[in-house]
Amino acid sequence: MSKSPLITLNSGFTMPQLGLGVYKVGQDIAVNLVSLALEIGYRRIDTAALYDNEFEVGAAIRKSKIDREEIFVTTKIWNDRHGYENAAEAIQESVDRLNVGYVDMMLIHWPCPKQDKYVETWRALEDALSTGKVRSIGVSNFLPHHLEKLLATATVTPAIDQVEMHPQLANVELRAFNKAHGIATEAWAPLGRARFLDNPVLGEIAARQGKSPAQVVIRWHLQLGNLVIPKSSKPQRLEENFDVFGFALTEEDMAEIAALNTETRIATHPDDMN
Ligand code: NAD
Repeated sequence: MSKSPLITLNSGFTMPQLGLGVYKVGQDIAVNLVSLALEIGYRRIDTAALYDNEFEVGAAIRKSKIDREEIFVTTKIWNDRHGYENAAEAIQESVDRLNVGYVDMMLIHWPCPKQDKYVETWRALEDALSTGKVRSIGVSNFLPHHLEKLLATATVTPAIDQVEMHPQLANVELRAFNKAHGIATEAWAPLGRARFLDNPVLGEIAARQGKSPAQVVIRWHLQLGNLVIPKSSKPQRLEENFDVFGFALTEEDMAEIAALNTETRIATHPDDMN
């Protein structure tokens, strides 16, 4: 069985570089899907309070009988739970719903700058670390100006920043900022929600490599050093998206994919999300 490489975080913990995202995975299929992913070799699951499937993700992990230390679970605090007290309660609720002893990674889902409370939300996450309920903490959808404000008072630097990222939004400056601060960058919508997998450049590279365009894009993320969490609810695609460790993109392939970058989003800009 293939295994994902591990990335060492600034918290000292390791995290599999490739995992499964379960956004829009309904409660009716979540236990079976996560169980299948664990059988295939996935050891990292990315959920969120918003996804309404933390309970099912936890149930699949408990059912698997895989050593808890081998599995890495991320969840996130939703936008309506910003502020110290609210966030502290939300953290406990997620820990309880997952019910897998501890949560490996808890993120602020969006900065919601118009609420202007993410600094207090971060304090609640810092305090959760000392309880042992949460092992590493990070952020999502934070741009350098949000991170600068957070870092001005933070006692813990976020371990990761999970952001929209795919060949059309390579986040060149953000990745450099994160790297300079010891923050690992994680790609959500890593396949661009499959909207441009039919791009001819990706098609040609896939044909040269004998792989699918989705595998080429996942490989591109891995070779950039990104953490990456493609989502699929189809068993065959779960396998395909994990079968990316037996080949490598050439420098030329990487350069051709880099040339597709237009820094354009498919989802909401972080400053506009409340
Ligand atoms: P994605 O880029 O992973 O695209 C998923 C879609 O691509 C699938 O629904 C399917 O239609 C298609 N697909 C999957 N595998 C394929 C394959 N091998 N070939 C062809 N098509 C394929 O987008 P996503 O689901 O939005 O993002 C992945 C994960 O990121 C989510 O499940 C979630 O965990 C996380 N996420 C986080 C945020 C955030 O704000 N932090 C936002 C959105 C998603």
